[in-house]
Amino acid sequence: MKPLEQLTRKNIWKLKPYSSARDEYSGHEAHVFLDANENPYNTPYNRYPDPLQRELKKRIAQIKEVGQQQIFLGNGSDEAIDLCYRVFTEPHVDNVVAIEPTYGMYKVCADINDVEYRRVLLDDNFDINAQQLLQRTDKHTKIIWICSPNNPTGNNLDANEIEMVLQSFQGLVVIDEAYGDFSSQKSWRYRLKDFPNLIILNTMSKAWGCAGIRLGMAFASEEIVRLFNKVKYPYNVNQLSQQKALEMMKDPFKVREWVNILLQERSRLINAFMQLPCCVKVYPTDANFFLAQVSDANDIYQYLIEKGVVVRNRTKVQLCNNCLRITVGTRNENNELLAALRQLQ
Ligand SMILES: *Cc1c(COP(=O)(O)O)cnc(C)c1O
Repeated sequence: MKPLEQLTRKNIWKLKPYSSARDEYSGHEAHVFLDANENPYNTPYNRYPDPLQRELKKRIAQIKEVGQQQIFLGNGSDEAIDLCYRVFTEPHVDNVVAIEPTYGMYKVCADINDVEYRRVLLDDNFDINAQQLLQRTDKHTKIIWICSPNNPTGNNLDANEIEMVLQSFQGLVVIDEAYGDFSSQKSWRYRLKDFPNLIILNTMSKAWGCAGIRLGMAFASEEIVRLFNKVKYPYNVNQLSQQKALEMMKDPFKVREWVNILLQERSRLINAFMQLPCCVKVYPTDANFFLAQVSDANDIYQYLIEKGVVVRNRTKVQLCNNCLRITVGTRNENNELLAALRQLQ
């Protein structure tokens, strides 16, 4: 890996971050807070939240088995994605390399930050080839984007190829594990010690059932986390979200139960789906959704909407011609989808 300073934008490396009232105070004894121009009434909403979400990070560190200083928390993982660009990539100069197809936000954030986005197509099995990714890099490539299990394809990407990318690339490698909780493959966060250029993304939006509270995580070296913390909005995770996330994490057993049910439902749903006349192919999945090629994605998508069932039409995405991405719902919801499709033509 190149020295982190060389991978970081000069203005960010030099940045003196905003210092909030709660940043500057760090004792335990105080009980009169006259430092932040808050209203003394309307407890507890009157107070600014902890800018570094320390209590929540302590719990996440236990659950995820990473150091507290290796955790960044943001307003969804989308915040962490955007921060990767804002911290590391110089607009008009630097570029990033990403697998294709994949999650759309990597490209949107590249466009917003005016950074060149280079796509490398996955193979016929939707898997990656390290050499191809590396060949697309040059001295201005700051980040390689990998998503595993990948969205919208659903599959885990080959761990040996990912390891080769981590070993050979001199810049940063982001592995988005938004669906990692559904996968039996070991998380890459256990390899942070081996790869200082590794950034892992995680979220409470999927397995944890908390898309509404907007809580995303990044796990990385302490140095990288410090850079993210410098650039983020001071109070980027609000009090209610911190509280709810902490409450959820008191009882991670519930999440494991949900995951088990959803994985069972997934195989039931896929088996039934494959029997449908409109089904051409279901791709292997390690996530709480599956990608299916159907006879006519546009027609079926529209037909399902009329029945009040919404799936994701991915037919315009490269390599996903006539493909629908279908999230696993409750047993009843899945049955409603199947019933509607059985009625087709
Ligand atoms: C859903 C999803 C996310 C989650 O984003 P949040 O902002 O945390 O809700 C991140 N990455 C991928 C690949 C996803 O599919």
